[in-house]
Amino acid sequence: MDCLFCKIIAGEIPSTKVYEDDDMLAFRDINPVAPVHVIVIPKKHIASMDEITPENSCAVAKIFEKIPEIARLAGCENGYRVVSNCGVDGGQTVPHLHFHLLGGMELSWPVFTK
Ligand code: 5GP
Ligand code: ZN
Repeated sequence: MDCLFCKIIAGEIPSTKVYEDDDMLAFRDINPVAPVHVIVIPKKHIASMDEITPENSCAVAKIFEKIPEIARLAGCENGYRVVSNCGVDGGQTVPHLHFHLLGGMELSWPVFTK
């Protein structure tokens, strides 16, 4: 499949891994917007949050069960933020479901601007 993140999972494109198991991969974003910026993805290809179903949602649950550990491994000491951009208005650029784990500084809120 011609999917950037599936290629990262397959090792065809190198990445700086933070955590990996049978269900998920967490790696450093190539263009970080915060001191800690990790992308967490299910190994099973799901295109976006719009594609989460009762059949595949356990992959998402497993990611959220692991996020506190991934955040610690990545260096978040005082909290963090998890964001998933969905579709055009959400600013999604890679069509494989992913969660941005952001931290390492006090993050501003709200994040949206026009
Ligand atoms: P989106 O814009 O879809 O929410 O997030 C995609 C993210 O993937 C962006 O933050 C972008 O910097 C990151 N990204 C795109 N290509 C690569 C890559 O080849 N390697 C890594 N590590 N991150 C990437
Ligand atoms: Zn994929």
